[in-house]
Formats: sequence, C-alpha cells, structure tokens
Amino acid sequence: MTALGEHGEHGELGDLLKTCTLCPRRCGNDRTAGRRGYCGAGARPKLARAALHFGEEPCLSGTRGSGAVFFSHCNLRCVFCQNYPISQGGDAGREVAGKEITVDDLSQIFLRLQQEGAHNINLVSPTPYLPMIVEAVAWARRSGLRLPIVHNSNGYETVEAIKMLRGAVDVYLPDFKYGPEVEASELTADDAPTTSASLPRPHVPRPHTQRPLPPVRPPQPPRRSPASLRYSAAPRYFEIASRAIAAMATQVGPTEFDDEGMIRRGVIVRHLVLPGMVEDSKRVLRWIKENLPEGVLVSLMAQYTPLHHASRYPEIDRRLTLTEYGEVLDFCVDIGLTDGFAQDLSSAGKALIPAFDLSGVSGKEATPA
Ligand code: SF4
Repeated sequence: MTALGEHGEHGELGDLLKTCTLCPRRCGNDRTAGRRGYCGAGARPKLARAALHFGEEPCLSGTRGSGAVFFSHCNLRCVFCQNYPISQGGDAGREVAGKEITVDDLSQIFLRLQQEGAHNINLVSPTPYLPMIVEAVAWARRSGLRLPIVHNSNGYETVEAIKMLRGAVDVYLPDFKYGPEVEASELTADDAPTTSASLPRPHVPRPHTQRPLPPVRPPQPPRRSPASLRYSAAPRYFEIASRAIAAMATQVGPTEFDDEGMIRRGVIVRHLVLPGMVEDSKRVLRWIKENLPEGVLVSLMAQYTPLHHASRYPEIDRRLTLTEYGEVLDFCVDIGLTDGFAQDLSSAGKALIPAFDLSGVSGKEATPA
C-alpha cells in the first residue's frame, strides 16, 4: 500500500482512473483528465452525506447507528432509484448532488464517524471510487480506525474490483436485483407488441434498379428487454452480479458477529422485490440457495416505492402487494433460505430515504437518519 499522495493523488491505485475499467461498463475514460464515463464520477470522491444511519439491517444499525457514507454517481441507472438526486441527478438535467473531497478528507470522515459511535463504516454506492476508498481506509486504519468496513453496492461489479478490496472490506452488502434473462418460451401474452410501429419495415428498392426484391421476413415476435436492461440499463446483470457476489463470499468467508450481535465479517445479499416480478425474485433466491455457501445472509426488502421515472413503466408504477411479498417470503422458507432478514411491507415510502444535504461532508453538522 502506498502512502497518500506518494504517487499522485491516489497513489498507484489512482492509475486505474486513467483508463477506467472499475466496473463492468469498462468505459476506458481518463477520469484524471476530466473525462467522465457512464457513471459521471470524477477523479475525486464525491459525497452527499456522511452520518449515523438507522435504516439498515439490525446487525448494521444496532443501537448507535451505521456510519453511512453516501457516494454520489452510480454505474446503474435504475428508473426507480430512491436515491436518484445523488445517483443520476434530478429531472430536467439537474446536477448530481454532492461535493468532491480529497482522500485525506474521506479518511477523516471515517475517523469522525467512529468517534460519534458508529458500529461500522458503511460505504453506499462506492464502486466508482474504489481506489480512493482503499487508500482512505488504509490511512484511517493507521490513524486508529477499528470499525468494520461495509461495501454496500448495487452488485454490478467486476471480480477484479472485488479482488482489489481484499483486506480493505470486511462485510459485503450487495444488491442482487435481477434474475437470469427469461427464455422466449416463458414469455407471456403481455410481452407481445401492442402497436404495428414495432414491426420491421420491408426494404423497398428504388424503381430504376433491376435487383429482385429481397424476401420480406415475417415479423418476429419481439421480446421485451430483460428487466435489468429495461429498468437499470445493465446488460448481463445477473451473470455479472452472480460472479461478483460469489467472489465476495469466497473472499471474506463465514459471517462473524461481535458480542453485541453486530456483524464484523461476512456477506449479506439484499434483494428488493419488485411489483409483478415474483418469479424473477424466486430465480434470484434459488440461485443464492444453490450457489452461495451456508452462512451468507439474505435480506429480503419490501420497501419498493415508485419514484423517479417509475411512472413511465406502468407495470412497476405501484407498490408491492401483500400477496406478492407473501409468496416470495413463503418461497424463501420452502427452499430453506431462512438465515437473514425480511423487511415489513410497511417499510415502503420515503421514510427510509435520508436528506442528501451534505450532512457530515462539508463541515455541516451531521444529523442521524
Ligand atoms: S466506474 Fe464509471 S467511468 Fe469507470 S468504468 Fe464504471 S461507469 Fe465507466
């Protein structure tokens, strides 16, 4: 590990920003030269909030709160993102909220959260900033940071990035949003086109050409894009996230708790159940059961609230029903996936969304959420 600034702003790891391939988008942009990639993140950590947070799983929030550090920008574009002001910016091209800080500042924030009593340092949407985070964690540990580091991500990550975090991260808290793409044979009538506008147009040559008319292909039944593309613009999400999560589980091993029941090491996989997607949830949960080691915890989430652009997608422009959530919960029990947590359906709404007002970032006093 290099010292802060020894080889430039972020040491040797900072070179990774010169042709950024930190996530599966692999934009290749030189972020150190101001060229931003898909996520829009720059070459410095950008934060929207750093404060005690009580909305996480009990083994993270505890009695004193999780030290949540909310990073700005994101490598997914979920149409229903509840944190859209800091992940994608607001409507009408509003800027992504947050403030750029130095790696030194970031390490000081970790230490301040420890002083305030946080049970852990909870890095929310950290993926575009991994080199800076590794550096800041190392520096803060040399200055007395003892808390577990929690990597709270959307799951759309490369195995190489997870390897980079060995020794820096103690607890992985990935989302596992979508199951594998559905085979064409499983499509329902709902997937059929509703207007002729989507049919391919036959090619009509100009009249003076002698070439024969090409055969007109009969219209193919188009398939609706997989949910990962439709709602998060994330090609091959299932394949990529499943590999990354398996690598996380291998890296940190079995779950460990301290005397207060707070997690010190391990993996908690979060799955947010979406309206109308019960079967997709079952595919995700079955994969977890069949592929991840015993001891990996599952956190089933019911807090889906149609925010941001969800109103443009009528099928998800509503909350989850009790019947849908009950079916997914029953499925977990039926397949023996009972180690973990399940949210109450009443958790849907805006109550769990903190204020992204730079609390704890720019000298502003942090208010717990
Ligand atoms: S972190 Fe951002 S810039 Fe880098 S590859 Fe991913 S989306 Fe592109």
